[in-house]
Amino acid sequence: MAHSKVIIIGSGPAAHTAAIYLSRAELKPILFEGMMANGTAAGGQLTTTTDVENFPGFPSGIGGGELMDNMRAQSARFGTEIITETVSRIDLSSRPFKLWKEWADGPDEAPSHTADALIIATGANARRLDLPGEQQYWQNGISACAVCDGAVPIFRNKPLFVIGGGDSAAEEAMFLTKYGSKVTVLVRRDKLRASKTMAKRLLANPKVEVKFNTVAVEVQGEPAPRGLMTHLKIKNVVEGTEEVVPANGLFYAVGHDPATALVKGQLELDAEGYVVTQPGTSYTSVPGVFAAGDVQDKRYRQAITSAGSGCVAALEAEKFLAESEGGDEPPLVSSTLEQSTGKEGEKGAPSLEYSSNPLL
Ligand SMILES: Cc1cc2nc3c(=O)[nH]c(=O)nc-3n(C[C@H](O)[C@H](O)[C@H](O)COP(=O)(O)OP(=O)(O)OC[C@H]3O[C@@H](n4cnc5c(N)ncnc54)[C@H](O)[C@@H]3O)c2cc1C
Repeated sequence: MAHSKVIIIGSGPAAHTAAIYLSRAELKPILFEGMMANGTAAGGQLTTTTDVENFPGFPSGIGGGELMDNMRAQSARFGTEIITETVSRIDLSSRPFKLWKEWADGPDEAPSHTADALIIATGANARRLDLPGEQQYWQNGISACAVCDGAVPIFRNKPLFVIGGGDSAAEEAMFLTKYGSKVTVLVRRDKLRASKTMAKRLLANPKVEVKFNTVAVEVQGEPAPRGLMTHLKIKNVVEGTEEVVPANGLFYAVGHDPATALVKGQLELDAEGYVVTQPGTSYTSVPGVFAAGDVQDKRYRQAITSAGSGCVAALEAEKFLAESEGGDEPPLVSSTLEQSTGKEGEKGAPSLEYSSNPLL
């Protein structure tokens, strides 16, 4: 069993930024990058996209895979030990924390690694709808992130569609009105789930049409290998009628699934399954366990915000380790997580109690 001061689980911008900071601080971090963990290659969500145009430092943009290769090389350069395996089980009940790898995680098997501090940076996955044509036109017209992809030339002055009826869908649709000729929002039900204010703004926008009781049925477009989507087949679920409409962009706003199965029941999660961190920090409900990136951020979900939170997690983990080694009682958090019911105020519900200024 190998022991390390700090282990990072994940391989996206949050994990690698944490690794860069921790390895430069000579804490010799181990980073488990996963082996197709949650269906995504090591490197995380950006490995599934082509050009990243909003990450600072790359004025001409950079390929998602290339950006992640660079981050990985930078982590390794300063001495991070990168293990290409998926962590399938952890035990956070006492320190050092215990970790098991996939295929070596039977009930009688000893953990492969232990660590004094852990950074959870396992990310999230945008939900897909498995529509016919979805795979072919993914990133060739279909996107799960308007902020990331909206400004791409293929969407300029073209008819765009958004699927979803919540706040995210409303925000994405309004953002896309800067680029598209018209933005149509497809809402499966007969009303929006978005907040009243958002719904009002959306419905008042002259470039937006909301089609209620309507779903996307099929994405159509130019032939492979690199054809772009050109049309969308939509269906009115009340009348049962279908039509094919011109569409050069289709943005999914149907939610994300945070990769938190690993920590469920051990860390406080919110109702949607995201790790709860104290605002402005990476502190979770367990002292010594820090969370960064999309696994704890359902609002911004950007590479740069993930990287920023990875930096925060590294600095906080470093401080935690220094204070633990100095014999100080880990100062920041007291956890009363016993059994996660997910509802505040219920018996057995998790709660976080922090000092008023955790950085002091
Ligand atoms: C198609 C697409 C395009 C995007 N384009 C942009 C863009 O242009 N600009 C931008 O700023 N953002 C973009 N984003 C969003 C951006 O990719 C995410 O916000 C960012 O990648 C989140 O980083 P993260 O570090 O939280 O983890 P993720 O990128 O989600 O990566 C986490 C990874 O950790 C690994 N992992 C998970 N569980 C385990 C485990 N148990 N053991 C070991 N490893 C594990 C997996 O490989 C997982 O994918 C895009 C997202 C998508 C899906």
